[in-house]
Amino acid sequence: MTITVKKNLVSEAKYPLKCPNPMTAEYITIHNTANDASAANEISYMIGNTSSTSFHFAVDDKEVRQGIPTNRNAWHTGDGKNGTGNRKSIGVEICYSKSGGAKYKAAEKLAIKFVAQLLKERGWGIDRVRKHQDWNGKYCPHRILSEGRWNEVKAAIEAELKALGGKTSQSKTNTTKKTTTSSSKKKTSYALPSGTFKVTNPMRKGDDVRQIQKALAALYFYPDKGAKNNGIDSVYGPKTANAVKRFQMMNGLCADGIYGPKTKAKLEALLK
Ligand SMILES: [Zn+2]
Repeated sequence: MTITVKKNLVSEAKYPLKCPNPMTAEYITIHNTANDASAANEISYMIGNTSSTSFHFAVDDKEVRQGIPTNRNAWHTGDGKNGTGNRKSIGVEICYSKSGGAKYKAAEKLAIKFVAQLLKERGWGIDRVRKHQDWNGKYCPHRILSEGRWNEVKAAIEAELKALGGKTSQSKTNTTKKTTTSSSKKKTSYALPSGTFKVTNPMRKGDDVRQIQKALAALYFYPDKGAKNNGIDSVYGPKTANAVKRFQMMNGLCADGIYGPKTKAKLEALLK
């Protein structure tokens, strides 16, 4: 059964605030609202207020509401203006997570079905699903995390997807779609260089820079998501410095865009 989405889309006048950029989504990000409001109220509040914070869908125990078109970006993952979460992912908020209970459970159940439907519509597998925490470290979806159920939720989405006849990891028939970003992290080892790297004139170039770029990309801090090979070009230029800066910002380091021992250690710890 197809889940019908009730739309209450933000006015175009508010696009500059809420969803300024066109988007070709590559991921779906799951959130908990940390609130006790219904999906209708979450969406009407979001599209009506003057904060830039935005998300595409809210799901409660009864329905799915949409506030931002899926072909525009929303500000929901806190990974910066050019963050992959903010710029390439569809945000799904699960309602009633503050108090939990039966209403939350039902909302989560509907959200699982709805996310599976979004995946099916796009021909995507479960590897496209992220939690907010993956993008910037925020403890969200808080209830799913505190109950230690993230893997369980993902498995439930995958089971729903399978029931819908969607793509599963066991039956990869579509070879044109590149979906290796998450698994490459586990398979590749990174020979991260020692020393300090920053933007210089002429710009530093080499395999050591490439290692830094690859490590950043594995953690979704692509030097340049829109560019060929995600901007991995072995050159320590402004875009790589910006990726380092975003990484530092999200990991409690001094965000100066300069790669040094502390950034190296943090990258290594996260790539283990
Ligand atoms: Zn969130």
